[in-house]
This record gives sequence, C-alpha cells and structure tokens, in this order.
Amino acid sequence: MPRRLTGFTPSGDLHLGNHLGAIAPIVAGQATTDTTDTVVFISDLHALTLEHDPADVRRRTLEFATVLLAAGADPGTCLFLVQSHVPEHTELHYLLECATGYGEAQRMIQFKEKAGRQSQVRMSLLTYPILMAADILLYDTDEVPVGEDQSQHVELARGIAQRFNTRYGPTFTVPRAVNPPVAARIMDLTSPGDKMSKSAPSAAGTLRLLDEPDVLRRKVMRAVTDTDGVVAHDPDRKPGVSNLLDILAACTGDEPRRLAGRFDRYGELKEAVADAVVATLTPVRERYLRLAQDPAHVRKVLRAGAERARESAGVKVRQAKAAIGLLPG
Ligand code: ATP
Ligand code: MG
Repeated sequence: MPRRLTGFTPSGDLHLGNHLGAIAPIVAGQATTDTTDTVVFISDLHALTLEHDPADVRRRTLEFATVLLAAGADPGTCLFLVQSHVPEHTELHYLLECATGYGEAQRMIQFKEKAGRQSQVRMSLLTYPILMAADILLYDTDEVPVGEDQSQHVELARGIAQRFNTRYGPTFTVPRAVNPPVAARIMDLTSPGDKMSKSAPSAAGTLRLLDEPDVLRRKVMRAVTDTDGVVAHDPDRKPGVSNLLDILAACTGDEPRRLAGRFDRYGELKEAVADAVVATLTPVRERYLRLAQDPAHVRKVLRAGAERARESAGVKVRQAKAAIGLLPG
C-alpha cells in the first residue's frame, strides 16, 4: 500500500487550488485506505525560510489545521501533524545535510528564484529542500503529489535516499513524485498564466477557502477571459476561459471539454462557476467556523497526531543515526 505525503506551509491563505489539488485528493484517498495511506502535515518550519511574522505563523498553523479538519482530513486514518511538533524532522534534516552536496542544494531552481527576490537570504532557504527530504524520508513515503514547481525537490529527496542507502545500508524508502489530477492545477483568475498561489501579490485572482460566498462570486465574475467570445477549452490560446472550465469540472466532477459545449456566453459560464465554487466551499467554511469555536479541541487532535507520528519517526531516526555512524546513547 503506497504511502503519500502532503504538506501545507502556513504562509498566506489556503485557496481553491490547494483544496482541489491537494485537500480533496487526501479526503478521497481516505475512502480507499486499502490502496493508500496518507501523511498530512502543516510545514510550519518551512514558513520560517522567508521573512515572517511570528504571530502570523502561529495563528495560521492552527487555522490550517482547522481548515484541513473542516475539509474532511481524518486524523484517525491519516497521520496528521504539525512539523515542529515532531522534532525528528529536524533531527533527520541534519543527518541528510551530511549526505547532500553544497552544489546540489545550490542548483535548486526555486532557491535561485526566491533568493533573487530577497535582499537578505536566510540560510534555511538554501537548506529547505533538505528539510523537505527529511519530511518525506522520515515516514517511508512512496509518493509525493506535487506540481512542477516542487518536482525538483522530490528528485533531490530521491537522490539523497539512494545515496544514503548505498553508502550506509538500506535505510530509506526511495520516494517518487506523482502528478495530482491535471484539472486540479488551478490558475490565478486575474493572471491565468500563473498558478493560484498563497503567495500571489494580489488576492483578486485567488479564491480563498474562507472567503465569504459573495466575495467568491465577485472574484469569479471579474475573472480575466479574452475577446473572441467563444467558450472552448484551449489552455494555450484561451487560458482564462479554460481555467474557468477546469474549475467547474473539478467542482462538479465533469469534463472541461464537455462543459464547454453547454455555454454560449462567458457570463453564463461565470455564473455556473461561481455557483459551483460556492457550493464546494460553503460546507467547508461552515464546518471551519464551528470547529474554530473550539481551538482546544484542534490542539488536542494535533498533540495526539504528533505523538502517533513520533512512534515511527523515532524508529526511523534511530536507524539513520546508527547507519551513519553515531554511537547509540
Ligand atoms: P506558495 O505560494 O506559498 O508556495 P501554494 O499555494 O503553492 O503556496 P503550497 O503550500 O506550496 O501552496 O502547497 C500545498 C499543496 O497545494 C501542494 O500539494 C500543492 O501541490 C497544492 N497546490 C498549490 N497550488 C495549487 C494550485 N494552484 N492548483 C492545484 N494544486 C495546488
Ligand atoms: Mg507552492
């Protein structure tokens, strides 16, 4: 039974892309526990690699956990935890740093991109993919569902696992990147050439999971389309309209091309997308508002999750320490 791992970094606000591309597949996977086994975690340590506000990270960590539970993540079925609550992540991170080349870490495209945009680059931005490798290898993960932007990091984790196993003896499962469903790569509504992202410079094109229904509706109605007036699915030539069709398809479980034939005007398509998005997100938002009344309960769930995760993580770290040459204490 392949094990899958998905992390959510508590910076910015969760959005429809996170929901359709990551959260919904986790919830769907839980229903078939005989074929998958899932690790879901809030990667709070990753939120410290760029300029951050401590109070924001703390607040968002609880908020993300609450949203994930509201969306249907089941801590009874998944391993459900906050990264910093399981110190084995950072312990393994160090061991893996000792199995990674400086040049290898420097070659990461995302590092180059993000470092280029900062005046002061944190050391952790360079080593972040090695912490991500630790997140993955700690739990013997087989599959990491990621978009293009993260596939190089999963490749790095594969390389580190293979090298460690070859040098020090079989210790880690070698993971592989898997593509989330294509239709779930949701693009920004105002710049459909970019993916919808927590770190987008403006929220106008981002459908936040916790946006009120009328805000969602307004954002959809203002989505960028094009001037030829034909409703068709053609992501290269008609990225805005195609994205709306993809969203509608993902929310309703239909096919984008089939849906295209049902609308004559962009206005009609947008109305249908707005209805589908509101129908998809309203139950999550309502459950969130209820659960958020009882933060102590959510924190209890997180403590239990960390405790459960530490059982297997502790074994894995002891194994890695012994293999690399540390004297057991
Ligand atoms: P950031 O801009 O901070 O990287 P993000 O929106 O990309 O934020 P992540 O925390 O990097 O969010 O990713 C969480 C999960 O959501 C990952 O599994 C990622 O593949 C998925 N995801 C992120 N954006 C989208 C999107 N636009 N469409 C589909 N899936 C997405
Ligand atoms: Mg991302």
